[in-house]
Amino acid sequence: MSTYKSFIGLEIHIQLNTKSKVFCSCKTSFGDEANTNVCPVCMGYPGTLPALNQEAIRKGYAVAKALHCNLAERCHFERKNYFYPDLPKNYQISQFAAPLGTEGWIEIDYQNQRKRIRIKECHLEEDAGKMIHAGDMSLLDYNRTGTPLLEIVTEPDLEFGDEAEILLHELRRLVRYLGVCDGNMEEGSMRCDANVSINLAGQGLGRKVEVKNLNSSRFVRKAIVHELERQAQILDKGAIVLQETRLWNENRDQTETMRSKESAHDYRYFTEPDLPPFSPDKEFLASLDKILTELPLDRKDRMSKAYGLSAAQADFIAEERPFADYFEQTVKLGADATNVAAWLCGDVQKVVNRENVAVYESKLSANRFASLIKLLDKGTISGKIAKQVLDLVFDEDKDPEVLVKEKGLEQLTDRKTIRGLVDQVLANNSKAVAQIREGDQKPLGFLAGQVLKESGGKADPRIVQEILTEVFSLK
Ligand code: ADP
Ligand code: ZN
Ligand code: MG
Repeated sequence: MSTYKSFIGLEIHIQLNTKSKVFCSCKTSFGDEANTNVCPVCMGYPGTLPALNQEAIRKGYAVAKALHCNLAERCHFERKNYFYPDLPKNYQISQFAAPLGTEGWIEIDYQNQRKRIRIKECHLEEDAGKMIHAGDMSLLDYNRTGTPLLEIVTEPDLEFGDEAEILLHELRRLVRYLGVCDGNMEEGSMRCDANVSINLAGQGLGRKVEVKNLNSSRFVRKAIVHELERQAQILDKGAIVLQETRLWNENRDQTETMRSKESAHDYRYFTEPDLPPFSPDKEFLASLDKILTELPLDRKDRMSKAYGLSAAQADFIAEERPFADYFEQTVKLGADATNVAAWLCGDVQKVVNRENVAVYESKLSANRFASLIKLLDKGTISGKIAKQVLDLVFDEDKDPEVLVKEKGLEQLTDRKTIRGLVDQVLANNSKAVAQIREGDQKPLGFLAGQVLKESGGKADPRIVQEILTEVFSLK
């Protein structure tokens, strides 16, 4: 069996979340009654004229800029001709010869390595409608027709299914950071086709197969893994991989032939005569910075350095912009970053999952979270009590200091009082005491636990330990 090199390029469509459609003023809202958000323009009636939505082109340029593309000084639109029942004009307005962004890149972290994936281009186009198959008939809903899509095309720089899945995740959080798309693949606001080929090492690209119908990043990974294996088996036999479009069948976990691949000239692209070319002016370019923000991976890097976070913590915290903001706000309020990160990724996460709420919208405001961590850092409360206080914040919607006072939860550090508790526990556990006196230190931990229990979890465990050591003259 030969070893092959693999090449994977993705074509990703993201639905830009503009208020109205890309070439008319119809609403873009999802889930409305069928065919209520339509007009003669998006229904493709003759004699109508498209007009470019400024918000759509702005968001498109902003994503292209975030992907480090060269921004077109002048881009234009073409008609891509094909017949499909959910495309009433019989052509799609898209960009072909002069897309709005070219030659960019995005980085991904895969197996502790950063890898740069080149972006070939980004172009703006209109979405088609939806066909709903109902028994022996098909129904058409044109509400989605004309929704702005930004198509992002990568170069074939990916090699594995895992990498493709990670890239989609990275792109998802990027468009969410920019606030231009919710990145939801299950609902179709982000869609992906995967192009896959293999070849003998050193021989360049192979003959590519395009896989469609991938409505989750997990399916993208699985389809690529399956396709790489299928192509390897073909080449192993000395046969040739057919250049075609295949569909992922999620019930059979395999790709299946759909059609032989069409090529660009089949679409008879020609310049859209009803739309002028678009040239961004200074003002437009400056307005992109209102959308752009520190990107997720940059934020991950900065936070892990600035706060000494582990890679996993930094990834977790950088996942959502408001989540990262919440973390940084808490730290700014004076709480120790290491502790904030540990609690945020651990106990706090458990509680908000249970409560089914995002932490930054929960009863644990950044202020309250910072107070909790500060109480812990100062030794006012123990870690065990801090967990209790955390629950209480959610149950009673009060500040941590207030709760600690009200319930008398301050950590017990008074040696005399703790000594009293120790004596009481020793008196009640004569067997364990005798065992230790005979030189077997095993029951020490048990006794310390009993003292903590007696104190209602409030005794400072370090002091309990010290007193026990003293009592048994263990040093
Ligand atoms: P087409 O002319 O078929 O549209 P493009 O050059 O526009 O092809 O590329 C479409 C996608 O296919 C891109 O994501 C690109 O990276 C990927 N691609 C192109 N050639 C190959 C190949 N030989 N193997 C794998 N992917 C490829
Ligand atoms: Zn319309
Ligand atoms: Mg192409």
